[in-house]
Amino acid sequence: MDIDSVLYDFINRGFYNNENNKLCLKLIAEVKWHGDRYYCKSKKCRGEFTKNKKFETVIGHSKYPDYSRKCCVCKNVETPTTNTSFHGINYIPAFFEMVYIITKLQKERNRRFNTDEIFRILKRDDNGISKSTIEKYRFQIQNYFLDSNFFLHSDSFYKECTKSYGVEKFSLRTGLNKKWIYVLSQFSFPRRITANIYNKDNYSSLYNFLSGTFISNSETIILYDWNKTYKTLKKKYPQLKFTNEQLEVRSLVTHISEALKDWLQGLPLSDARKVRGHMYECIQVLFQHYYTPIQLLVMMIAIDMQKVRLRPREPKRRARFNNLN
Ligand SMILES: [Zn+2]
Repeated sequence: MDIDSVLYDFINRGFYNNENNKLCLKLIAEVKWHGDRYYCKSKKCRGEFTKNKKFETVIGHSKYPDYSRKCCVCKNVETPTTNTSFHGINYIPAFFEMVYIITKLQKERNRRFNTDEIFRILKRDDNGISKSTIEKYRFQIQNYFLDSNFFLHSDSFYKECTKSYGVEKFSLRTGLNKKWIYVLSQFSFPRRITANIYNKDNYSSLYNFLSGTFISNSETIILYDWNKTYKTLKKKYPQLKFTNEQLEVRSLVTHISEALKDWLQGLPLSDARKVRGHMYECIQVLFQHYYTPIQLLVMMIAIDMQKVRLRPREPKRRARFNNLN
């Protein structure tokens, strides 16, 4: 998709303020409707089956945000943020800037920015943003990393590749709480990494971890120094081909484990989904395909739109039940 150059510069120069709210809305609208591929979703116009796809772009209207689109037939207005995760967000420029910080700045500095640092950057615009809002936005962005990981891993393209994997584990402690992180990395191209958090280091954690990853049970997995677990696991998971041979590539996984350990330093470990979000942010930023801020934003809106298409329609039966009541 072509995004016009003004927008492109704006997203990639890394300075966002409230004046630029319009540009944020413009980008969301362009991506959401793929430029001009708009159709009115009102009942009268029959949604995507409509023949009439003419619209006016709304600018400077008191009731609707800029870059909303108004159907020329039924006058229905759809805002750029409808059905996207930007809907209801008070500080869209701050959200855009968070995407910039998480992808570009963290990548450049090769480390995690904590909430206080992000707060210091964002509050400069006097937008009244709070630290809890920052954490909320960050979790929202991390969820896209989790989603995109799922999309990547389910791609049939990967079926044809030769694969070998290594698994590492390490423990983390906050107060009396000790948790275990398992990391799996594919050595061959395309490199895929997955990680999860467990309360205990035992057979069932490892079994659950391996079952939840993208590997099939006929593939080779390299486990290092896991001899105890390895013996029982081999019995229960007979299809898996375990080997300890390729020790020279071990550093590829230990490197990821070390980076994850640094990244998670000082973060609360009680909420497993949040920890997973932080781990995927680290994996995505440091080790996987690098998303530029604009690529990530485009991907986020594309995933939102995909979800709308996949959402099941309200069953007609319900209407009848309501009538009976
Ligand atoms: Zn219409």
